[in-house]
Amino acid sequence: MSRPVLHTDDGEGAAAAAAVADGARVAAALEELYPEARTELDHRNALELLVATVLSAQTTDVRVNEVTPELFTRWPDAKALAGADEAALTEVVRPLGMGATRARRLIGLGRGLLERHDGEVPDGQAALEQLPGVGRKTAHVVRGAWFGHSLLAVDTHVGRLARRLGWSTHNDPRGVEKDLVAHLEADGVGEHDDAGNLTRLGLRLILHGRRVCTARAPRCGDCALLELCPRVGVA
Ligand code: SF4
Repeated sequence: MSRPVLHTDDGEGAAAAAAVADGARVAAALEELYPEARTELDHRNALELLVATVLSAQTTDVRVNEVTPELFTRWPDAKALAGADEAALTEVVRPLGMGATRARRLIGLGRGLLERHDGEVPDGQAALEQLPGVGRKTAHVVRGAWFGHSLLAVDTHVGRLARRLGWSTHNDPRGVEKDLVAHLEADGVGEHDDAGNLTRLGLRLILHGRRVCTARAPRCGDCALLELCPRVGVA
């Protein structure tokens, strides 16, 4: 299937960009644009971040933040979640859609944490991915944003930006992640300085995808990456 081509109003005189955006320059530009690279999911500890991230599937961070204050107050730890009344929990997460499914997932998550990790959130990729409702992206979000690892969490925004910047041709998150990591390493984007930290770079790509490089109407004319970006699939 051919890639859809989007038309944007980017004004005239945009400099021709290379076919593939330079990783280091993009990372530096994004750091300048979004110095505070933080997840937009409200949380105070690892469990709250894990729960909020699990809840964010198929909804927005804003909507998750609307239900989590009550959720975190009524079920503040893994033990409470494991023993939660399913109907009561369903009622609280119902505004996000699929309330019963989400409630069962959280109860399963609480039980998994209680039974396998004494109620604590583990800092291990495999240990996290073995918990109900937790996949690679969620584990990367928690390990990156809470435990301080440099890990790319590929969501729809990161995937779209990666394709438009010429960094990946994949649509699946794992393929995008592999391409991005390889490309950024080849461009000398370091793990330990702030711009090159993959966790923060991923968060910045998400912010840019939400605010400027949107799916349907990318605002190339207002974009600080315009001179670096080959705009693959965007005319
Ligand atoms: S990153 Fe900027 S220039 Fe590139 S496609 Fe998105 S909005 Fe356009």
